[in-house]
Amino acid sequence: MRVYISTDMEGISGISTFAQCGRDPARYEAEGRPLLMADISACVDGLIEGGASYILVGDGHASGCNFIPELMHPDADYFTGTERPRAASGLDESFDAAILLGYHAMNGTETGMMHHTQSSKAETKYWYNGVESGEIVQSSLVIGHFDVPVVMVTGDLATCEEAHHFLGDDIVTVAVKEGFSRQCGILIAPEMAHEMLREGAAECLSRVELCKPFKMDLPIEGKMIVQTPEYAEKRGENLGKKINENTWVASFESPLDIYRF
Ligand SMILES: [Zn+2]
Repeated sequence: MRVYISTDMEGISGISTFAQCGRDPARYEAEGRPLLMADISACVDGLIEGGASYILVGDGHASGCNFIPELMHPDADYFTGTERPRAASGLDESFDAAILLGYHAMNGTETGMMHHTQSSKAETKYWYNGVESGEIVQSSLVIGHFDVPVVMVTGDLATCEEAHHFLGDDIVTVAVKEGFSRQCGILIAPEMAHEMLREGAAECLSRVELCKPFKMDLPIEGKMIVQTPEYAEKRGENLGKKINENTWVASFESPLDIYRF
């Protein structure tokens, strides 16, 4: 069984602030990146135990280059670097299942640690076919385009609730922390989180038949609101149709087009 792991950073165990995800370079290097690699390795261990024959890990946070080569698990390959061609780079129809590892709740989720959708500075919000959506939906749409089901999502408790809301009850979720507000909450020891991630990953491959690829009716009618005024002013054209000072709309023929805004 071929498995793709799409990674983000805000929902990694042991991470509680944007500083660890890159805003503070020292904390990003010392804490954020090693914690990311450790959650990935725990997930890979579980997938091997669950019967995976090939694992590709995609580097999805910010502009990429988050992985540390020395800490890569020998049983997986890693898609990384800058100028990635698209979300879930390296994924195609040959994969049987996908995992969203280290994800976070959509912008505006009060108890979602580091909640945001795309830009935490521009405070962007997104709707597809009228449904407000976060990065779980965005990634699942791209993955679903290749007829691959998402079978496991990890992050904080709010992330797991959002995942079940959109992807159903048959996926495995692993909550590695519980948010109180945007940048604080209750962490568990990474050692414990890794054990939970390993168990979840071993279990999720038995759910592949139950989980369906995530789809929306095409064309997808998209809407984006930029809540931070100075960023709304900075947004260039080419994003679709601007209908007021902070709102853009566009019609997407394919899920691969949704990152146009
Ligand atoms: Zn991120």
